[in-house]
Amino acid sequence: MNNEFEDISENIKRIRFNMEEAKVRAGRESDDIKIMAVTKTVPAERVNFAVSQGFELLGENRVQEFLSKKEQYVKNAEINFIGHLQSNKIKYIIDSVTMIQSVDSTELAKEISARAVKQGRVTDILCEVNIGGEASKSGFSPEALHDGMFEIAELPGVRVCGLMTIPPPSDSCVYFEKMQRLFEDLKAAPPKNSAITLLSMGMSSDYTKAVKFGTGMVRLGTALFGARNYSV
Ligand SMILES: *Cc1c(COP(=O)(O)O)cnc(C)c1O
Repeated sequence: MNNEFEDISENIKRIRFNMEEAKVRAGRESDDIKIMAVTKTVPAERVNFAVSQGFELLGENRVQEFLSKKEQYVKNAEINFIGHLQSNKIKYIIDSVTMIQSVDSTELAKEISARAVKQGRVTDILCEVNIGGEASKSGFSPEALHDGMFEIAELPGVRVCGLMTIPPPSDSCVYFEKMQRLFEDLKAAPPKNSAITLLSMGMSSDYTKAVKFGTGMVRLGTALFGARNYSV
């Protein structure tokens, strides 16, 4: 059978195999670790093929790109926002996403909450942690995280569900371990009105390692769709 998406099929086989193997190695066979398909620069037809193969959770980085593709996505796709979000763009996405994983400041959380309240909804969010303290990345510093999350948890229009990170490319394991500790500490003493259940970490180059450090969701772009035409 001719399959124009054969490359994606092959990638999916490899990803499933690698995930199973990583889970066994980590003693996490029975854990449900979600796999997100990260769609930046990927045409909607290719995304829809991945959805048809069971990759129903999509990660969107850019508001403009998302808006231009969202009508073409199959309806059973679930969308999370994972990119840097400017507060004046919240209104364009809040109705279409089930979670915003990239909340990098209390100010942004307040804006999301205000918009959600206006629409009579509560938006699930993750706080993004700049675990490597990199100048090029946004997110809470590990030191500011605790107070920031407790402040955010008081907001009526958001529900804090956990943490997301993009670690420095080298030495992921060191940073994954730090993230795991932050996450476990939060779970042990969570803010009121929160639902600390999700640690989102691990990308194409390091997702099998993240499994060892308790990830609940890996976010895959190039491993699933192949190299992007340009870097984002
Ligand atoms: C691009 C991106 C990913 C996926 O990156 P790959 O290395 O292609 O898997 C995951 N998370 C976020 C936040 C991203 O921007």
